[in-house]
Amino acid sequence: MNDELETFRRECAAFIEAKCPASMRTPLVREDEEPWGGRRPVFTHPDTKPWMDAMAERGFTAPTWPREYGGGGLDEAHARVLEDELRRAGCRPALKSFGLWMLGPVLLQYGTEAQKQAWIPGIVRGETRWCQGYSEPGAGSDLASLQTRAVLDGDAYVVDGGKVWTSHADKADYMFCLVRTDPSARKHEGIGFLLIDMRAPGITVRPIRLISGASPFCETFFDGVRVPRANLVGRPGEGWTIAKALLSHERALISKMRDARSSEDVSLEALARRYLGTDESGAIDHPSLRDRIAQANLDLLCNKLTMRRSEEAVRAGLGPGPETSMFKLYGTELSKRRYELMVEMAGFSGLGWEGEGFEADELVRTRSWLRSRASSIEGGSSEIQLNVIAKRVLGLPDDPHGRGRE
Ligand SMILES: Cc1cc2nc3c(=O)[nH]c(=O)nc-3n(C[C@H](O)[C@H](O)[C@H](O)COP(=O)(O)OP(=O)(O)OC[C@H]3O[C@@H](n4cnc5c(N)ncnc54)[C@H](O)[C@@H]3O)c2cc1C
Repeated sequence: MNDELETFRRECAAFIEAKCPASMRTPLVREDEEPWGGRRPVFTHPDTKPWMDAMAERGFTAPTWPREYGGGGLDEAHARVLEDELRRAGCRPALKSFGLWMLGPVLLQYGTEAQKQAWIPGIVRGETRWCQGYSEPGAGSDLASLQTRAVLDGDAYVVDGGKVWTSHADKADYMFCLVRTDPSARKHEGIGFLLIDMRAPGITVRPIRLISGASPFCETFFDGVRVPRANLVGRPGEGWTIAKALLSHERALISKMRDARSSEDVSLEALARRYLGTDESGAIDHPSLRDRIAQANLDLLCNKLTMRRSEEAVRAGLGPGPETSMFKLYGTELSKRRYELMVEMAGFSGLGWEGEGFEADELVRTRSWLRSRASSIEGGSSEIQLNVIAKRVLGLPDDPHGRGRE
């Protein structure tokens, strides 16, 4: 590390020492302590907001975004130093946000100057919470079949239709939404990318209850909702291009999601010892299980190293591209495999749901095991990732039926 980076590293360490409360240097386990921000923020831990504000004030919630929009203005090398220092100190994420992970990068690329000024600073400071309006009942994998219409009427688009599986729509302030702006154009070409205020008259949101017991996502209905024309990002028919760029960011994120649900942080060996015991030499008592654990750990390591290589390429300005589909596919399938193994090893205790007789981590694990199955569906299912890899990474011929999320 050169002198300049070393100085910056010390600055970061001093900043964390001064601004990150000890409680924010512990693992984030409870979902209700997640820092989502927004116009109606919920901070169940008193230190969450001060930590978010301190990071946002320096632009460190979006370290590489330009300073003029509130970002940190750091180059890749400095951003990596900051990331390393935050990780070294065990800091919790200061802000979780679809705006940071998905919308911001495409606004920086496709937004007008006025749109960047209007939307990006609020994302960096955690003042606005966003949801993603892509999927519809007849348009999930075949996303370009979406039917929600936006018809221009004076200075506003009038939106009619409905979205489904909209994560956190009931808590979000705004939605970035795919709408059909030109029904006569070919299906990929008649789509617009519209930013919608969730307070607008005509929007109804209904939470959907899941097998895990939670209701993280909703149905969203639009009935004559007027949205300012200035909220269209890109040209009216450019929505599909923007949607795909955003999906690359989303997939990169899902593949490296490290939070309470991450299967990476759990030691499979420790669980095997706890539930199945060891032989006289201290080794896990089942040779075939030892093999499966070793394989799962090796696969995890290889995946991490490959992702690290890809992150370096992104930092060097190359991507992210369609190869994020490979990470999304592999990362989520691997996570499912690890959770299956954990539940299997724990036997009866692996199915703990609530009540007495189970340890707290067992109850969390059962829900995480179920949640891991959703990760291979959200952001495009594993089958769709295989299609994208075939077409856009390997260059194989098209699906003859022309279907698929991209
Ligand atoms: C946890 C979670 C959060 C989500 N959050 C959001 C959100 O915030 N916003 C949003 O817009 N959407 C969201 N989604 C929806 C998600 O994007 C869709 O569920 C996903 O794209 C699949 O679409 P579908 O459910 O309509 O399934 P379908 O498209 O009906 O697919 C059904 C099955 O058929 C397979 N299949 C379909 N087409 C093909 C093909 N061409 N080749 C091979 N197999 C195929 C699929 O792989 C799948 O197994 C979320 C989903 C989950 C699980």
